[in-house]
Amino acid sequence: MFKPKAIYYEKDIENYQLGKELLEKYKEIPKIEIQSHNAIEEMRKKENKEFLNMKSNLIIGVRKTHKFVENHKISDFLVPYTSSGCIAACMYCYLVCNYNKCAYLRLFVNREEMLEKIIKVANKSEKNLTFEIGSNSDLILENTITNNLVWTIENFNSEKGKLTFPTKFDMVDDLLPLNHQGKMIVRMSVNPEEIINKVEFGTSRLKGRIEAINKLKEAGYQVGILIAPVIFVENWKELYLELIQRLEQELSEKAKKDIFFEVIFMTYSYVHTKINEEAFPNAINLYNKEIMTGRGRGKYWYKEEIRKEGEKFFREQLKKYFPNNEIIYIV
Ligand code: SF4
Repeated sequence: MFKPKAIYYEKDIENYQLGKELLEKYKEIPKIEIQSHNAIEEMRKKENKEFLNMKSNLIIGVRKTHKFVENHKISDFLVPYTSSGCIAACMYCYLVCNYNKCAYLRLFVNREEMLEKIIKVANKSEKNLTFEIGSNSDLILENTITNNLVWTIENFNSEKGKLTFPTKFDMVDDLLPLNHQGKMIVRMSVNPEEIINKVEFGTSRLKGRIEAINKLKEAGYQVGILIAPVIFVENWKELYLELIQRLEQELSEKAKKDIFFEVIFMTYSYVHTKINEEAFPNAINLYNKEIMTGRGRGKYWYKEEIRKEGEKFFREQLKKYFPNNEIIYIV
């Protein structure tokens, strides 16, 4: 159970039900009032080596921007939802966008307003829409603090829309008895155990993630598997082959029947290298100049040859072990 070191909060959260509940839940924890969750001067000034310490705090505010961004992968829109940032610390996390800003967990208490907007957009649309609500944080993890995912499933009553989110966590038991009406697509992100241990600090083990998929399928949820991000370490073929074989062995028949795959190769950045070398001095270096190249604004991705080789490998192996399952994309 996550116990924050301190709560930084906007005064306005007292006017929301969830805000009141969280203040009550954490009444013993030291509190610091802030003007805006977006500009916490004290956090901005901290050094990179403070990265993990900063993640031990909880920031609670009211989300003001509700802009939907069009998307063309699994969903139609990326939607800002009930949280941003995370208390785990995957070394490649793309939420680490601007040094120390954005990485720690911020909770937004105006969930009614956010869900209402999704329902309105869905109901007005001529076609069925899918909304990605988990692109700014991990909602299974957040749910252990706020119960927001349970609340969302219980209150999402649009005839036309579906909601989706990715996760690296296995705490799904609270979702199993809910009447989700087939409107929730959970996408479990997996990586070889060795990569989880060395890179995805604070997340669930592979075994737990596979068990969570089986439980969710048993409860009738639509579930996908994100093999992501693929990291081309020296023995990547061996590790990812073992991962695919393990999925084939440990997923239930129900899961294997209609599970779909997304495969995403890692992107990295100069900011990540700077934070990681100071915050995790003993961790592996994910930047490999032999196989990575710049793609503008301090970002790196794998060179075309290795991406092509990766794509060929995943298409061949997934076809072999999961011949009837769709690969939505490999990027
Ligand atoms: S679990 Fe997801 S949101 Fe949290 S640090 Fe890892 S990649 Fe980022």
